[in-house]
Amino acid sequence: MPLTDARTIAAVRCHGPGDVRVEQLPARAPGAGEVAIEPLAVGVCGTDGHIVGGSFPAARPVVLGHEVCGRVREVGPGVDRLAPGDLVTVEPHDYCTACAYCRLGQEHLCDAKRGYGVRLDGGMTERMVVPARIAYRLPPDTPPWIGALTEPLACCIHGMDQLAPRSGLPVLVYGAGPAGAMMVALARSRGLAPVVVMDPRPDRRDLALRMGADAALDPTDPASGAAARDMTDGLGFPYVVDAVGSAHLLESAIGMASRGGRILVFGVARPDEEARVRPNEVFARELTIVGAVINPYTHHRAVGMLPTLRLDRLRPAFFPLEKVSQALEAQAVGQADKVFVAPYGVDAARR
Ligand SMILES: [Zn+2]
Ligand SMILES: [Zn+2]
Repeated sequence: MPLTDARTIAAVRCHGPGDVRVEQLPARAPGAGEVAIEPLAVGVCGTDGHIVGGSFPAARPVVLGHEVCGRVREVGPGVDRLAPGDLVTVEPHDYCTACAYCRLGQEHLCDAKRGYGVRLDGGMTERMVVPARIAYRLPPDTPPWIGALTEPLACCIHGMDQLAPRSGLPVLVYGAGPAGAMMVALARSRGLAPVVVMDPRPDRRDLALRMGADAALDPTDPASGAAARDMTDGLGFPYVVDAVGSAHLLESAIGMASRGGRILVFGVARPDEEARVRPNEVFARELTIVGAVINPYTHHRAVGMLPTLRLDRLRPAFFPLEKVSQALEAQAVGQADKVFVAPYGVDAARR
């Protein structure tokens, strides 16, 4: 374990497409209003793979990792809300605070939004220095890998806010990867019923059921659509979530929605994909299609919900910093329910 007086720290930096290196970087002391965190668990997400693959715009080089839970090591001048030893989760965005969107309370749509692990150095490192106001204290007994789920959970909460469901009605979730699985847990906690999931992978259908879905169907089975619809008395779903991101799924979601249905586009489709939508159908069936991007003002709420959602039903896999390439590969193939980089070792991440 490095000490505060260590001159350098290990970090995972992406220098360009396919070029990920574990490097020694200078250790920076926290300035005024900042904290230095030792990241204990850092979630690997699809975005990391897209950055490394070159399809997601990012700074070069940049330290990867935006789903961060760690322990405060040092606090800078003027920080009185946090102390060394605190377990924290990082809300990984920086906004200009001055553009029209920022002034409208829509900072996540900011012209100059910068994400940690994307434009700013992220958490796959032995030491991350961030403004104290974006480090949120967690209950000290929180397993760090659960703490690292605060960021994707905050995105899911924003998605649910956009979907704005009323309790007691059915929801259909496409995709039971980590985000879809958290959506299922959130849908349950909001009283939606039945919660129906479509995913072609048996292991992910199993995860969906563990997370509380009433049914998990294989969309490649031609009978799955009718089977899902039967669970809504043939009306279709008032709420549909695309937690995968594809033109094809949006078309399917529209087909499965009930009259007056609301469809959430939550997964990240390729930028060039186009879906066929009939405006007459949107009109006549009074459909609403809404997007949700990142986690505006929901990180605080995610911290509050974290202990209630039993996210330990996910099965994690951990990799040390040096094995980041294997971690990215494991994420890409979905080797575990959720993959983490553990800069201070597996025991410190799992605890
Ligand atoms: Zn992510
Ligand atoms: Zn702005």
